[in-house]
Amino acid sequence: MTTIVAANYPWHQAIWQRIQEARQQQRLPHALLFTGATGCGHEQMVYSLAQSLLCLHPTEVGYACGECRSCKVFTAHSHPDFMLLELVDDKQSITVEQVRNLDRFLELSRSYSPHRVALILHAAAMNSNAANSLLKSLEEPAENTYLLLFTDKPTALIPTIRSRCQQFRLALPTQTDSLAWLAAQKTTQSARELLALVGGRPLAAIAEDADERLQQKILFFNQLKALLLHQLSMLEVASQWEKYNRQELLDWQIEWVQALIRQEIGEIATEDSIELAALAPRDLWLLYERLLELKALSTHPLNGRLLVENMLSLWL
Ligand SMILES: [Zn+2]
Repeated sequence: MTTIVAANYPWHQAIWQRIQEARQQQRLPHALLFTGATGCGHEQMVYSLAQSLLCLHPTEVGYACGECRSCKVFTAHSHPDFMLLELVDDKQSITVEQVRNLDRFLELSRSYSPHRVALILHAAAMNSNAANSLLKSLEEPAENTYLLLFTDKPTALIPTIRSRCQQFRLALPTQTDSLAWLAAQKTTQSARELLALVGGRPLAAIAEDADERLQQKILFFNQLKALLLHQLSMLEVASQWEKYNRQELLDWQIEWVQALIRQEIGEIATEDSIELAALAPRDLWLLYERLLELKALSTHPLNGRLLVENMLSLWL
């Protein structure tokens, strides 16, 4: 069962308003595709939109009332007019059976809410059969239905799905918005440092704050920067890193490069990651590929020092 909760964050205000205006003018398309990074509360906002579309008495600005019959059953995860499709724990993809259930669901008549709503989280995880099965529901929508999709990997969606939805690109929150929000969450670590580690994603920063490996991660992040600034030598950094779990080391670096790549395509994260970007190699995709290759090798009983020196030299 899902653990997602409905929430709206300050950085969603503009997009929320845009959607509500379209809704009031009755020109909200029936299929909406939301794309953006995870760890920014985007999924929660889309989930909150689902609740609001079902709500019997939404507020003036379009939020769900939280009190009506619809809201109560929605919060209890048992709304008859709502269906959530997501990756099931042990599966790699959303299957055609799951989508067929959704197609059937959309055909049913609604009970007491004004609409029927389906939400597909991890939309890019639909395998090709599943995606094809969804096309019919997209092309011939049943009356009073909304289909919401969310993915952090829009390019992995087949183009025929993308072209049949109205797309909403959800940006990273600005550093100012993120820091203001994080200040209210009372993180134990410096919010700025947390944000830098996760490429400017505020909800990911909260998760990071609770991670017991955090100190280690901050240390390595700063050591990497010091290496690139020639304040530390390869020998000094490698002697520290080689004692640590190789998989984790590589996972962290992969995350850092992903954040830099997002930044390169225009998602400005934080001042610290801008600093790292200025020091990192220009071909970030190549760096990313190489780190993935090393990760595949990292389970082999290689010499630890050699592996660490290999990964560090990729950055230089
Ligand atoms: Zn309500």
